[in-house]
This record gives sequence, structure tokens and C-alpha cells, in this order.
Amino acid sequence: MQIVQDIATLRDIIGEVKKKGLSIGLVPTMGFLHEGHLSLMRAAKAENDFLVVSIFVNPLQFGQGEDYEEYPRDLARDQELAAAVGCDLIFAPPVKEMYPRGYATFVEVERLTTVLCGSSRPGHFRGVTTVVAKLFNLVSPTHAYFGQKDAQQAFVLQKMVEDLNMNLELVIRPTVREADGLAMSSRNKYLTSAQRKEATVLFKSLNKAAGEIEKGERDPEKLKEKIAQEISAARGARLEYIEIVDTSELRPVSTVAGSCLIAIAVKFDQTRLIDNIVVGV
Ligand code: AMP
Repeated sequence: MQIVQDIATLRDIIGEVKKKGLSIGLVPTMGFLHEGHLSLMRAAKAENDFLVVSIFVNPLQFGQGEDYEEYPRDLARDQELAAAVGCDLIFAPPVKEMYPRGYATFVEVERLTTVLCGSSRPGHFRGVTTVVAKLFNLVSPTHAYFGQKDAQQAFVLQKMVEDLNMNLELVIRPTVREADGLAMSSRNKYLTSAQRKEATVLFKSLNKAAGEIEKGERDPEKLKEKIAQEISAARGARLEYIEIVDTSELRPVSTVAGSCLIAIAVKFDQTRLIDNIVVGV
């Protein structure tokens, strides 16, 4: 496994791989790898000849006052984990390699980025689409892998790929969870042990809503109210948003019909957790 920090070397290696006609799977991450990331890597390795994992805490997708500085980083541990799942190349550039002085170009997907996480994190998705577009240009992957855990991100990136005619396939893989249902996230590390116990409320409340839908409930307001009640009963949990939206334009639905995304963001102190499920009726 090679570890590359500069773009010139990355381009040389990718050029060689392409010359051999090999397919390339890319898994973009911010590092501090967990089983969610590793599941993407295993799929990418199984479906492609050459696996590239990028590890880059992208300053552009963090807002002011967010956790860019504190975001957990452990490249040595990440290298071991990535090597163990057959990663061929880690690209871990410093910030100045990705955004040199005078950097001025950004990629922005409209509409889909102003709702859900986009409304509480202005500029976040502009940062995501910009860095991912750059990674796609640098690595020219055949397939790129993302998690359903960040459902809105997956929608936004799919839109970017379609609208900009990018020549690759996005693969969205299921959310990997802890045994008690909490979605794995590098940010779970911030939780105190008391908060960690309460954090199961995200997935529990989503599952309860899915159960209500199965029993026939179709009113999104009633479902949202139920989820909000569940969240408020968990000590230290503050609901940031709960939305039930369609899975094409992420618009709030007036009745639950077809395929809907139920998405929530909850804060425990400064730690912001998200989760979602897709229900189909
Ligand atoms: P991050 O390092 O948090 O930016 O995540 C990198 C990629 O891993 C993104 O495509 C995420 O959606 C995905 N990911 C993060 N957590 C999980 C999880 N628990 N299950 C599946 N994919 C995940």
C-alpha cells in the first residue's frame, strides 16, 4: 500500500494504473476510520482492481465554530486499518496541496443543499462537492463509494455527477451501526459515556416512526411529533431537525407515500449526530 501526500505523485501512479486498463474504486473519507468506512472499502476492493482511499479533513466543509480543529485524526491507525482491507493507495494531502494560495473555484449544487443539514450548516455541501469533484478529477475512479449514513450528501453528489456529466458510478452503501443501533461516526468519540447511552435514541425514534407507518400512519406531522417527543425524553439531547422528505428533490412531503427519507439531526452539547432511514409505502 502506498501513502501519497502530493498531487504530482498521485497523478503518476493513477496514470500507470489507467495505462494497465485497471478499474479504480475511490472511498473519500475524513479519516479516523471505523467499520462504516471499512465496509465501503471492502465493497470498493471487491468491485474494482485498484482501491484508493482519500483521508482529508476538508476545512471547506466546516462552518465557523464547528469542529474542524478538534476533528479526530490518527493517520497511523488509519493506515493499518486500510491496509488490512486491501487498500492500494492512501491519498492524504495537506490542506495547502488541495487549496493552494489563491484558490478560487467551487462547485455548488443548488436546491438540494438548502434543506436538512444544509439549512443548519450553510456552505457545508459546497465544501463537500468542491473537494469530491477535485478528488474525482485527481483519481478518475470508475466507482466512488459513499455511505447512506450521510443520505443528503449522497443525493447531492449524485446530482453533481449527473449535472456535470462526470464519468463514474456512485455506489451508496448501507449505514453500519453499533450493536445498539447507533450509526457509526468518527464524531461518536466526542460523546461522554452518559451521552453515548442516550444517543441510541436517534435510531430508536426512527424505527418507531417506521413502525407507525407500517401500522398505517401517513401524516408526516404526527410522525415528526412522535420522534420529537422521543428525542426530548433522552437526557441532554437537543433536536436540531426532523424532516420527512421525498427521495428525488428532498422536499417535505404532505403525506407519506412512495419512497420517503426520514432524517434527523440531534445535538448532545456540541456533538452533532445525524441519522436517517428510507421508508417505502
Ligand atoms: P466521513 O469520514 O465521515 O466523511 O465519511 C466518509 C464516508 O463514509 C462517507 O461516504 C460516509 O457517508 C461514510 N460513512 C460514515 N459513517 C458511516 C456508517 N456508519 N455507515 C456507512 N457509511 C458511513
